[in-house]
Amino acid sequence: MERQTCTVTIIAVPPLTFHEARACVLSTVRGARQACAVEEVAMRDAAGRVLAEDVAADRDTPALARSVRDGYAVRAVDAPGELQVIGEARAGGRFGGFVGPGQAVEIMTGAPVPDGADAVAMVEYTRREGDRVRIDRPADPHQFINPRGCEAAAHEIVLRAGVRLDYSGVAALAAFGREQVKMFRKPRAAILATGDEIVEAGQTPEDFQIRNSNAWSLAAQVARAGGEPAVLPVARDNEGHTREMVESGLAADLLLLSGGVSAGKYDVVERVLAGLGAEFYFDRVLIQPGQPLVFGRARGKFFFGLPGNPASTMVTFELFARAALELLGGQEETALHLPYARLTREFRHRPGIERFLPARLSADGGEVTPVGWSGSGDIPAMTRANAYLVAAADRAEYPRGELIRVLLK
Ligand code: AMP
Ligand code: MG
Repeated sequence: MERQTCTVTIIAVPPLTFHEARACVLSTVRGARQACAVEEVAMRDAAGRVLAEDVAADRDTPALARSVRDGYAVRAVDAPGELQVIGEARAGGRFGGFVGPGQAVEIMTGAPVPDGADAVAMVEYTRREGDRVRIDRPADPHQFINPRGCEAAAHEIVLRAGVRLDYSGVAALAAFGREQVKMFRKPRAAILATGDEIVEAGQTPEDFQIRNSNAWSLAAQVARAGGEPAVLPVARDNEGHTREMVESGLAADLLLLSGGVSAGKYDVVERVLAGLGAEFYFDRVLIQPGQPLVFGRARGKFFFGLPGNPASTMVTFELFARAALELLGGQEETALHLPYARLTREFRHRPGIERFLPARLSADGGEVTPVGWSGSGDIPAMTRANAYLVAAADRAEYPRGELIRVLLK
């Protein structure tokens, strides 16, 4: 079987590289995407949500030619020269007259350019005396004027359906008078932690027990990705209970499982999913943390079986599940930014797998230092990291001062 292919059988699937697995998630989810439900959302609640309609300018913008400097509206041919000031144009008003030869109108940034004028002379290069102004420099026609409609023509689309709105998108909604807008319903992600050793966060664990942290890191990650998390009770390591919980999780748009996907005797997640007729696209990826990593589909819903160690759960969500959730939420694009930073010390690893290790990025983002940790169960170390450094599978050594990719946390 070709490595690159996404396959639907669980048996004999070779592990995928990081890039193959990511490409598989993107193409599979894109290929199966159905129109998400749409709802009306108020502008004030729109930030971070995904537009379900195109938004167009409701008028030429700007609606009039506007000055982009404080100064004097003039005829370019009159500069340099001494001109007669015949009035003032300020933001929030309109100068009703006409600028004739030898005339100027004092103008403020943002104010409409009066008829007759075709340039603005910056106030810094003028000298005013009474109703006369001396323009010191020549002017080019159109200088410091934004013509009508230069930002958007009436009916021109300024925001496309499928974009997740940031604060500038909210500004566009306000600027074009869209106090209500159609947006995709947030995709629901069911979160199912598994394990006989797991107790709820509010409980006092025995020393052989662990509090459920994965469900809550995942809930936070889902919310940040624009989804609606629903945390289910922990599934016990037996097929009956896990099956019951998985079935209820498959009611959501996406099911995120943590733990139970290794090769241990009590790792029942894959068996349970197979029993529900799941298709498996991959179940191992050459990354650390997170080698056992399951991606598939059951009853029409995608699921990820994320490895149970807390750092593995967090990292694999960011690398794969976030993209699936964003696409299911109607986003047209999903990105994984891996910018470069300079290593403050030498870094070596055993090549063959891509590593995403907790790291500290300097305040200006220029330098990166690995954070010491005792492995992928180390939550305190994860809290000290603000990024992951990304060690490529085909490279063993990075000298100090070398550029290396990082993933922001
Ligand atoms: P597993 O993949 O089920 O073998 O889990 C690997 C390890 O991850 C377990 O031994 C636990 O230490 C840890 N783990 C699994 N599930 C959780 C969870 N929900 N919260 C915190 N740690 C977990
Ligand atoms: Mg387990």
